[in-house]
Amino acid sequence: MTDTSSALSRRTLLAGLAAAPTLTTAAASVAAQTPAAKTAAEQAQTALKDTKATKLVLLGTGGGVGGLGPRRTRKMTSHVMLSNGAAYVLDCGVGVIDQYALTGIPFSVLRSIFITHHHADHNIEYGPLLVVGWVNGMHLDVRAFGPPPLKQMTEDFMRAYKTTVDFWAEDFKMTPLVTVDVKEVSAAGLVTQDDNVKVSAIIVEHPPVKPALGYRFDFKDRSIAFSGDTAPLEAVAKMAQGADVLVHEAMYVPALEAYTRDEIAKGRPVKFEDVMAHMKADHTPVEDVGRIAQEAGVKTLVLSHLVPATDGITDDAWRSAAEKYFKGEIIVGKDLMVV
Ligand SMILES: [Zn+2]
Ligand SMILES: [Zn+2]
Repeated sequence: MTDTSSALSRRTLLAGLAAAPTLTTAAASVAAQTPAAKTAAEQAQTALKDTKATKLVLLGTGGGVGGLGPRRTRKMTSHVMLSNGAAYVLDCGVGVIDQYALTGIPFSVLRSIFITHHHADHNIEYGPLLVVGWVNGMHLDVRAFGPPPLKQMTEDFMRAYKTTVDFWAEDFKMTPLVTVDVKEVSAAGLVTQDDNVKVSAIIVEHPPVKPALGYRFDFKDRSIAFSGDTAPLEAVAKMAQGADVLVHEAMYVPALEAYTRDEIAKGRPVKFEDVMAHMKADHTPVEDVGRIAQEAGVKTLVLSHLVPATDGITDDAWRSAAEKYFKGEIIVGKDLMVV
């Protein structure tokens, strides 16, 4: 199905080339992107193969729900951690299902899903992941963790898709997915613990979203902390203290200002000052990310949830802003990168 449709679309593009010379650039860039995307997935699969060490895959590294379009190559936020044969997903922006599948990690090893907060770029594909995951072998004892009302949201979604699930269950004689075990998290502290990992949460600053969470995963061989979406916060540095990896959201203010002015010029009905005030109250400039990582004393800082999620900002621009303060390893996140 996929092969046929991509062959068809390529044929359509090629036919279009002859008819419309102005399409050349767009067609060429699609053709150029196809092998690169495969390479990223293949690289991820290779990095995950035969490894005993706990790995983090950045599934989507773009911040926010807006700014979509053909020039955006970063998916919305999602991650998967693979440890001792079990997979843990953190956040479910648009793209989590496809990106997870591209890693080659079977859905049957998906053990838990964690949500940092209820913005669409972090939760919109949570329900679909459950249903599509189940069809593809996800076990019924998968667990979900996140801020209230995650339990209600899960039940409502499963009610909405009951007919769909039941048709599939009848057809393939599967036990239907009715709901999953949800634990709501609304305070700092221990979230869950199993044979691979101890997970704890903190409350971060992301008004008006309450609560918004940051998480720390202490695996046997490495610890990985996630800021979630937050204004610069001491609590994140404390949570990430001594961690191997800190994945922190990052905002590049000069590019964001230029991007916002451009959007307003194109007719977005907002005021520049209002947008920037919101962004500063809710998110962390990349320089501050460097400061927080240095204070936390982490080995590796991963810049992700990049805002703006446009492709025009070079890795060097991101890195040099963070390394003013942080002296450890800095990774500028890219989709399907394995850390
Ligand atoms: Zn976000
Ligand atoms: Zn958010």
